[in-house]
Order: sequence, then structure tokens, then C-alpha cells
Amino acid sequence: MNILVINAGSSSLKYQLLNPETQQVLAKGLCERIGIDGKFTYKPDGKQAIKEADVAMPTHSEAIQAVLNALVDPENGVIGSMKEIDAVGHRVVHGGEKFAKSVLITDEVMAAIEECNPLAPLHNPANIVGIKACQALMPDTPMVAVFDTAFHQTMPSVAYTYALPYEYYTQDKVRRYGFHGTSHKYVAGRAAAMLGKPIEELKLISCHLGNGSSITAIDGGKSVDTSMGFTPLAGLPMGTRSGDLDAGILEYLMKKHGYSIDEMLNILNKKSGVLGISGVSSDFRDLEAAAAEGNQQAKLALDSFDYNVKKLIGAYAAAMGGVDAIIFTAGVGENGPDTRANAVAGLEYMGVKLDAEKNNTRGKEVDVSADDAKVRVLVIPTNEELMIAMDTAALVKG
Ligand code: ADP
Repeated sequence: MNILVINAGSSSLKYQLLNPETQQVLAKGLCERIGIDGKFTYKPDGKQAIKEADVAMPTHSEAIQAVLNALVDPENGVIGSMKEIDAVGHRVVHGGEKFAKSVLITDEVMAAIEECNPLAPLHNPANIVGIKACQALMPDTPMVAVFDTAFHQTMPSVAYTYALPYEYYTQDKVRRYGFHGTSHKYVAGRAAAMLGKPIEELKLISCHLGNGSSITAIDGGKSVDTSMGFTPLAGLPMGTRSGDLDAGILEYLMKKHGYSIDEMLNILNKKSGVLGISGVSSDFRDLEAAAAEGNQQAKLALDSFDYNVKKLIGAYAAAMGGVDAIIFTAGVGENGPDTRANAVAGLEYMGVKLDAEKNNTRGKEVDVSADDAKVRVLVIPTNEELMIAMDTAALVKG
């Protein structure tokens, strides 16, 4: 079964054609600068990537047509015809409280996704454009929506309720939703497989540490708390996002500097996080290099990040009454031995103990804890596309 996975943004579109049963990726790539000057990248399995500039892509529709043309191209294509695409899985950022799992897309589902637009005004409209463009080009192919928020819909009300007047929840839908759900769900499944235990019997803490970062407490396979909130600005400090802060700071800085709310939010989203603290970069590799050369702000940015990861691990162990395994995933989690070591340093009292040699690993599924550790520490590369393809295949077959 071949599933086309589409992740549409406002001016870009990532795609992958894969077989969820064999996990083979037949081809993948990226359309960028849609509506501007169209850049197209296509990488068929086992061959060189093909890059084209100035491809006419005034809308997402032409971008998806370019993807389909490439997939069936006689020379570099990977399938004989579009009929070999059994279904399309679309990443959708926000499903609000309406979607607790992936769904086959119908007219009603499209309307419900549109209703969630105000909750993710930058992302959901772009996801919808991607779905509509695919539907127009492939009217007979089933489409599935896979939501970033769905996995977290199992959180109990104590975890998702903000201490605001309750009508902001009932009337305005203000609550913790959480994001990165596809990634947290995927690595939790892999952790259960690595540990050889049913997921229902496990308490897991999944640390998705990338440009955007979030941590999730997963009890018995269900998300019971997560660090991102109403928006993906909450929780850990990130590459450029502030994470949690005292809301009183907004009033203070806006009055003092005369910022508008848009200017303030731009600072919190684009100029804060480890970039803000360090003044160097949002990229952890740059920060590690700068810290090694003695840059104290870069060191503080890294230390502060690691400290906040540790604090949340402690919080979620408390929330679940224990933890069997801590998972590290995404760019920094998979490739940052120092971040992992610092984030769990001092947690020996909880039964966490790293094996320094095993921890010196990058981008592979490895148990990096000491043999006698009570709590396992696992490095698990995330694979959101595979998770989307697996959900899509299951719904289409089911
Ligand atoms: P996104 O949230 O955009 O998907 P990623 O999961 O790709 O982000 O993570 C990007 C982060 O991962 C960057 O800060 C980058 O520095 C970090 N990263 C990637 N490779 C390494 C590495 N080898 N060592 C340390 N950090 C790395």
C-alpha cells in the first residue's frame, strides 16, 4: 500500500510517498516558495535528489501537480501511475476538541477543521489549502487528516484547564491542547516495542526536543499532560520561542517600550528562547560551539534549556506516580548527548542512570541507560510521516 503524506504550510509543502507496511520511503521532497518563485526538490529512493528553481507554483495546486508529475515521471518516477497512490495522509495542526484521533476526510470533517482555524490561524488554513488542492487533483483517492493535537485529547481536565474565568474555556475554547502529538505517539509505540512490554503497562516521559520542543507524560499509552498549551508558544524555552513566562512581563515591556501586541508576540515567537538568551543562534550546534569557546550567554542558554527539561521530567514523574522510561527524540533529543546527560543529571534518586558510552550516540534507536538503572532512557528518532502513513492506511483499510 502506497500512502502519500502531505504536510502543507503557507508557502511550502513537504511530501513523502511511503509504504507503511514495509516502511520503505519511495520518494520524498519539498515544494518551497509557493506563490513566490517556486522551488522544487524531489528525492527518489536510491537516487540523487533533483532540485529545480523557478518552477511555476502560483498556488498549492501546481505544487502538488509537480509532485504527482515527478512521482510518475518515466525516468525518475517511482510509480507507474497515480492509481498506485492508495490514499493521502494530511498533517493538520489543530483539531480542537473535535478530533481525538485521525479521520477519513469528508465534507463534514472539512467544515470541522475549518472551525478550528481561529485556534491555529497560521497553520490550519494552509493545511486546508493542501487538502483541497489534493482533492481537486485526485478526486477518487481517499484522504485522511492526522492532527498534532489529537493524541493529547486524553488529558484529564486538571491538566488542560487554565486558572482563568471558566467561561473562557466554555465559550472561547481556551485550554491546553498540546502539539507534536504524532511524534509523541510514534516514539511511545517504539519505546514499548524496545522495552518488550505492552504500552498499557508503561509510564513514559517523551521529550521532543527540536526547534520547537515539548514534553509529554504518557500513562498507559495515553497523553496525560504536555508542556505546550493553547498555542505552541508554551512550555520549554525553544529555538526562538520563549516558552512559559509570567504574563505580567508582557504588560511591563509593552508599556515601557511602546510595543503593540503584534510586536510583543513577534519577540516571544521569533526572538526569544535560546536565541534570545544567547544572542548567538537558535541552533544548538552553534550554541555548543560558542559555549565551548567561552561564550557565557550561549552556555546559559543551553543550561537553562537542560534545566527546564529536567524540571518537567520531575513534574511528569510526579503527575504519573513514577516513570518507566524517558524518551529523547527530534533534532536535539536524537543528536545531543550533552543535552540528554545534563537533563537527567541528578535524577539518580528516581532510578535514572545514564551509561556515558552508550549515550554517545546520534540518530539511532538506543537504550542509553546503565544496565542497573531502574528507569530506562531511550533515544528514538521520530518519524511523523510514518505515523501519518500508518494511521492513514489503518483508516482506509478499516
Ligand atoms: P524542527 O522542530 O524544525 O523539526 P529539528 O527536530 O530538526 O527541528 O531540530 C533542530 C535542532 O536540532 C537544531 O537546534 C539543531 O541544532 C539540532 N541538531 C541537529 N543535529 C544536531 C547535532 N548533530 N548535534 C546537536 N544538535 C543537533
